[in-house]
Amino acid sequence: MKIFFTRAFFLLSCFILFNLNVSAAINWGYGEDVNSSFQNPDSTKNRFRFINTNFENASQLDWELDSLGIVNISLNYDHERSSINRANGHWHFQLEADSGIEVTLLLKNFENIWNGMKGIPVSEKTNCLISEDGVNWSIIPADLISGNQLRVKIRMKSDKIYVASVEPYRISDLDKLLSEIGQNPLVEITDIGKTVEGRPLEIIRLGDPEAPFSVFLRARAHSWEPGGNWVVQGLIRKLLQKDSAPFLKRYCVYILPMANKDGVSRGRTRFNTLGKDLNREWNFPADKVLTPEKFAFKTWLNMMVKKGKKPDLAIDLHNDQGGNIHVNLPTSDNAPYIANMKRFENLLYRHTWFTEGPSHVKNPGSFGEGLARRFGIDAFVYELNYEWAKGLNKAPMAKDWELLGSQLSKVFYLYFDKDK
Ligand SMILES: [Zn+2]
Repeated sequence: MKIFFTRAFFLLSCFILFNLNVSAAINWGYGEDVNSSFQNPDSTKNRFRFINTNFENASQLDWELDSLGIVNISLNYDHERSSINRANGHWHFQLEADSGIEVTLLLKNFENIWNGMKGIPVSEKTNCLISEDGVNWSIIPADLISGNQLRVKIRMKSDKIYVASVEPYRISDLDKLLSEIGQNPLVEITDIGKTVEGRPLEIIRLGDPEAPFSVFLRARAHSWEPGGNWVVQGLIRKLLQKDSAPFLKRYCVYILPMANKDGVSRGRTRFNTLGKDLNREWNFPADKVLTPEKFAFKTWLNMMVKKGKKPDLAIDLHNDQGGNIHVNLPTSDNAPYIANMKRFENLLYRHTWFTEGPSHVKNPGSFGEGLARRFGIDAFVYELNYEWAKGLNKAPMAKDWELLGSQLSKVFYLYFDKDK
């Protein structure tokens, strides 16, 4: 009898718990007020289906469809180790909805902290890009609304549309470039180390290492900033054309094309995957464990210095909302450096679409200042404006950055003119 009552009590308990769970599920996920558009097949709102982030360089985000049918997208911040700094500015995802309808997106979380200060990476000039194939992109309006949110309305031309902040440049794009140029006798590709997650880091050499001058370029220290990758791709393709032979007689080019490959792969915004900024702490030795990307480069650079092949000029390519070149040592005891930077700036005005001018903001530990101080290399950071190319009077696209890269070939040629 005792066993009978125990069993009966157990079965009754299970029945009550089961019904409570069903009731909770209805209230939590399937209630009338929560995304009813997903449930009613006749609803006009039942046309949005999914935000796909399951591909290379897709951004990290959370999304929710609200009762008005707006897709609220909360982008994830990158966080810096031992710091209050955080960054977000990258969005890249695939929108799935019925062809022909308009979907409204609301992008959130643009309250960045940069060098300990608040910084908003979006403005009235911010663009949004869409593409059906992830290769050919076009610009659509993005409205900055209260609370630093971006509202984007997308008319679906097919049932899957890629959406991005700037034209993406992925590791697979770099791999295609490397296989395109790898067999060219003017090119040497050398592995110099690995990222935190073990991805190979390479230096591309173009031209003769015995040429009288050399320039080094780094791209993609910050993972969301693809402008530098498009620039070096444009430069490489230009230098491998026959009419560029005189350029490579005068100078050799070394390129670290993608410093923060892990961040690019994972669709992050700024830091490497251990939360370190690869454009900071250049005034200290590189941490082999936390920043193997910097350690590999510094090891390579030390080897070049020992061989007497220290680059004469070094440029770190970035994206921001200013578009300036950062001349980092604006003091009187660095007159030759300042004079060289002025000469380079003037050549940029004459032979590229650059018009934004220099910035003399002190940025201790950045690539430009670090290389200038520690290695005596004329080095600077070039920030490509991702919102507006003033010299072209348009929002910049990949082909514009590639054009600038090809134009740099002549800038270097004239900069390294011994008679000047
Ligand atoms: Zn940057």
